[in-house]
Amino acid sequence: MHSFYFHSFIFFLSPITSKCVRNNMNEYVFMVQARGIQIRENVKNIGAQVLEQVVRGAYSINGTDYSYDFNFSESDAPPTTYLPEGFTYLPSQVCPEKLPSMKGRLEVNMTEISLEEVERFSLEREPSMAPGGFWKPTDCLPRWKVAILVPFRNRHEHLPILLRHLVPVLQKQRLQFAFYVIEQGGTEPFNRAMLFNVGFKEAMKDLDWDCLIFHDVDHLMENDRNYYGCTDMPRHFAVKLDKYSYMLPYNEFFGGVSGLMVKQFKKINGFPNAFWGWGGEDDDLWNRVQFANYTVSRPQGDQGRYMSIPHHHRGEAQFLGRYTLLRHSKERQKVDGLNNLNYFPLVSRSPLFTNITVSLSRKLAPIADY
Ligand code: UDP
Ligand code: MN
Repeated sequence: MHSFYFHSFIFFLSPITSKCVRNNMNEYVFMVQARGIQIRENVKNIGAQVLEQVVRGAYSINGTDYSYDFNFSESDAPPTTYLPEGFTYLPSQVCPEKLPSMKGRLEVNMTEISLEEVERFSLEREPSMAPGGFWKPTDCLPRWKVAILVPFRNRHEHLPILLRHLVPVLQKQRLQFAFYVIEQGGTEPFNRAMLFNVGFKEAMKDLDWDCLIFHDVDHLMENDRNYYGCTDMPRHFAVKLDKYSYMLPYNEFFGGVSGLMVKQFKKINGFPNAFWGWGGEDDDLWNRVQFANYTVSRPQGDQGRYMSIPHHHRGEAQFLGRYTLLRHSKERQKVDGLNNLNYFPLVSRSPLFTNITVSLSRKLAPIADY
């Protein structure tokens, strides 16, 4: 690595608190990330590793103190094809996609709150929410039935923040939806992808969902025009993240929040089950989508902005074998995914979501060789 970047990298890891230096630091993040992208173009894997290290470094400096940038560029605003205020639609008509209630920029509130409190005021506002968080509009026919799948382990402070933020947005978007929180029990490394496969299979027992949203628990959208229906899918929603300086870290990035139609997800045999620990499973899903000749769409401009709740990686292992697996995405796709998955779930309904608890292990997703 070029020595200048090496120095900035060291500088970057030292404990810094003053605001001015922190702003400088953001520039460093930006530069080192840009450097990461450049390297990645030449030597893909090394570039990704540099980028990951930088981002992980940023988390360990100052867990909760980020400088947020609320300056949205107006030139990024989409053409105003949204329906005018006061527009009325009929219960017999399909809900519009671009409702007047979708105003654009959203306030993001990250203060902690108890789940009980979110449940209470969500039900006060929308008494028609059924156990499991099932909801559908009554003033028009929902255009899409959307299952929101959230992989989960030991992030109890994040979940109520996500629900407080997202439930009202989905109601404004007039989607039929429910939340599935798939919680990994046991002591194996976290397996985000396998949890999504479990969540999918369980959700389909409830209802004939059209669209699946794969949603990290710590991602909060900043714009309610980021529509969670399955228009132009497969779709990558979390395009501009605060933690990546609102830049797409690399073109094939498919992490954070992504979505597929049910029929697409079945066609690609779901997520891989073989990614234990942090990293790579989202890249493998991207590969699967490419092999099926789908083109991934993304929300335009500032519609794809998200803030993520700062957190530490406490004792979570990186998955070092991911690059080897990713080289064989194509062969593994046929044999690892929805078709080799076994699991024994514990399902319970709470007011705003269905909880699916599963213990995961390698023997639950047998595969001859990978
Ligand atoms: N996750 C979790 N517990 C863990 C690790 C991950 O619940 O111990 C879930 C959670 O939904 C999280 C997502 O998996 O948002 C992605 O993991 P993480 O946030 O650690 O990834 P990163 O922030 O580094 O991209
Ligand atoms: Mn995270």
